[in-house]
Amino acid sequence: SQESIVEQVKSEEGKKKIAIITSGGDAPGMNAAVRAVTRAGIFYGCKVYACYEGYTGLVKGGDMLKELQWQDVRGLLSIGGTIIGTARSKEFRERWGRLQACYNMVSNGIDALVVCGGDGSLTGADLFRNEWPELIKELLGEGKITKEQYETHRNLTIVGLVGSIDNDMCGTDSTIGAYSSLERIIELVDYIDATAASHSRAFVVEVMGRHCGWLGLMSGIATGADYIFIPERPPSETNWKDDLKKVCLRHREKGRRKTTVIVAEGAIDDQLNPITSEEVKDVLVEIGLDTRITRLGHVQRGGAPCAFDRFLATVQGVDAVRAVLESTPAIPSPVISILENKIVRQPLVESVAQTKTVSDAIEAKDFDKALKLRDQEFATSYESFLSVSKYDDGSYLVPESSRLNIAIIHVGAPTSALNPATRVATLNSLAKGHRVFAIRNGFAGLIRHGAVRELNWIDVEDWHNTGGSEIGTNRSLPSDDMGTVAYYFQQYKFDGLIIIGGFEAFTALYQLDAARAQYPIFNIPMCCLPATVSNNVPGTEYSLGSDTCLNTLSGYCDAVKQSASASRRRTFVVEVQGGYSGYLASYAGLITGALAVYTPENPINLQTVQEDIELLTRTYEEDDGKNRSGKIFIHNEKASKVYTTDLIAAIIGEAGKGRFESRTAVPGHVQQGKSPSSIDRVNACRLAIKCCNFIEDANFQVKHNANLSADERHLRFFYDDGVKTSAVSGKSSVIDDNTSVVIGIQGSEVTFTPVKQLWEKETHHKWRKGKNVHWEQLNIVSDLLSGRLSIRTT
Ligand code: ATP
Repeated sequence: SQESIVEQVKSEEGKKKIAIITSGGDAPGMNAAVRAVTRAGIFYGCKVYACYEGYTGLVKGGDMLKELQWQDVRGLLSIGGTIIGTARSKEFRERWGRLQACYNMVSNGIDALVVCGGDGSLTGADLFRNEWPELIKELLGEGKITKEQYETHRNLTIVGLVGSIDNDMCGTDSTIGAYSSLERIIELVDYIDATAASHSRAFVVEVMGRHCGWLGLMSGIATGADYIFIPERPPSETNWKDDLKKVCLRHREKGRRKTTVIVAEGAIDDQLNPITSEEVKDVLVEIGLDTRITRLGHVQRGGAPCAFDRFLATVQGVDAVRAVLESTPAIPSPVISILENKIVRQPLVESVAQTKTVSDAIEAKDFDKALKLRDQEFATSYESFLSVSKYDDGSYLVPESSRLNIAIIHVGAPTSALNPATRVATLNSLAKGHRVFAIRNGFAGLIRHGAVRELNWIDVEDWHNTGGSEIGTNRSLPSDDMGTVAYYFQQYKFDGLIIIGGFEAFTALYQLDAARAQYPIFNIPMCCLPATVSNNVPGTEYSLGSDTCLNTLSGYCDAVKQSASASRRRTFVVEVQGGYSGYLASYAGLITGALAVYTPENPINLQTVQEDIELLTRTYEEDDGKNRSGKIFIHNEKASKVYTTDLIAAIIGEAGKGRFESRTAVPGHVQQGKSPSSIDRVNACRLAIKCCNFIEDANFQVKHNANLSADERHLRFFYDDGVKTSAVSGKSSVIDDNTSVVIGIQGSEVTFTPVKQLWEKETHHKWRKGKNVHWEQLNIVSDLLSGRLSIRTT
């Protein structure tokens, strides 16, 4: 909370001199981490040093260790790579190098290191901490440091931030840079898709990942690839070629005009022989496909970080400083991780050790173990990939009596991941023999025209990268004519419904659930999959489409800031969507480095505006005419009836008195985004499959337990407690035995919450959002890093 932060700032206890290092391969987001560590450190009263060129700077000392000021890290959020440099330091691997590093730290008074790098860099950091007592004793013995220096620096504090595009660290869902890299890959494969489909060609795309298949797997899911090769799941030496041929030919026979095969750099077969892109190409040529190889190479590392990496690096950077302040010699060095939506600290040694066991397991040909060690979601994602790409061969069909009619409907404003989610739900269901029906143009389409269309494999196979809604969406609700909706449910004998959309989708589910007593036909499992840029559906902290929107917004704000910076004296007030939910504004403020964020949750008054103008004036003065980065304010469209975007811009302009001026910028519907982001595509896949599992398991339970005929099943619905464990896999949990649920991500878990509970207890109906303002922390971090919190607390 803001209060506890103020307490910590005031206390003199634990103030440190912290050095920040970026090490190993560069990764987008490292700069954002440098910015966050620097500013949070200064905010908490510490001194922060940049250690240039990775561990080399620590070994060489001198000018390579330099104190950073608040202004030094201005404008860093949007810049790829690392401005403090990175390197692979041979000297630090040697004991003499680490002894020299120890000396340089002690002589500069530095007693804490925040290391942002891959598992190698963190291994080095851990080794350094373990050796520290010996090293410092040796320096004292040699007379290089004084007794007093020895006494004050007896303990070294290390905190790890995982910066690596490979996403190869165990114990965290994501490393800083991984999703930016994935974003680059999918963008490029989308370009390749267009030419592949035009010429009916096959493309073998080689992606990075010598020891870890995360990029290969996730890009396979996000690009709708036919086949992938990753080190954790090597195919059989003897039959991988035949299998590849079978899958690709089958997809061609179904009508696909292109073939995409993703090969991770470290791809191997089950006898550990490398599988090269050339070999894969030769196999595809054998089945008559005009095949090309594209090696994406270093473009995968470069460019501006995506919205998520800016967020991740920023919140983790701030937490790293807090971890430094809270550390004691007894606490093992932590690495800052993320599990689903939650930032957590894990013991660094254990994460590094577990990461190493993955390569050991691969070397020992224990591939099941390797897959499991990566993390639960990796194995689930691999299974998800197979269920949409490979299980369409007929061998995964469920018995005739267990086949279902699954309906999918889009409700509300369009967002970017509606199509990928529908594609995955359809392909996964068809592979098992279910039938999938798209209700077209929302409930209005059903009520007015009975608009239902059965979806086939070829209808949806290329929806992985399309934005908008192929089946049509609008805000109409079933309550417009519940009787007609029930009529069509009866006619098509739906066994389950997936409603994809925002607050209206949630409302629609509640209405159907409430109408069950009157229309027993609605006694089927129904699941709302939240998809809205506003992220205002109760029961989840993430909605499909919101990440695409944030990527669009960060690009938009970067352009606006550039304009502001070029004109030297201009400030922009950017108005973002979100209705009465301040999520988008808060997140956008954090990832664009806005000076102030205005949301409906935090009322604006004259005092706040005045303080923000004071901050703006001070920032211009500190810039001293250099004005290296533009300044923006973020304003949610419904933040205040009085303090509108125009009014705030006018007040800023008036207060500028010629020193600065202001403009407004309103991105409007551009925020819905175009092609879905990698995060939205990957989450569309895993959440859509979990929805299907939920519907299947609930239905099968009905059939097996209640022994009902198909027709009876449409009239009555029994729900067995046992379903709770079988309905979902992985980290998910059904939290109540209810069959109208909202799937969501809450904290570190995927959850299914009954719509009734959410509607009655957890919804702010007037403001069309959940009561849980899970984004409030983002504002605190934003204010801390913009200097706004300092203005308020002094
Ligand atoms: P990436 O995931 O991008 O490869 P990484 O951090 O794993 O990043 P490495 O080259 O393995 O990259 O390590 C970076 C640096 O960390 C090394 O150059 C070296 O300075 C230091 N380092 C790595 N392993 C050790 C070790 N066992 N002992 C001491 N220092 C090490």
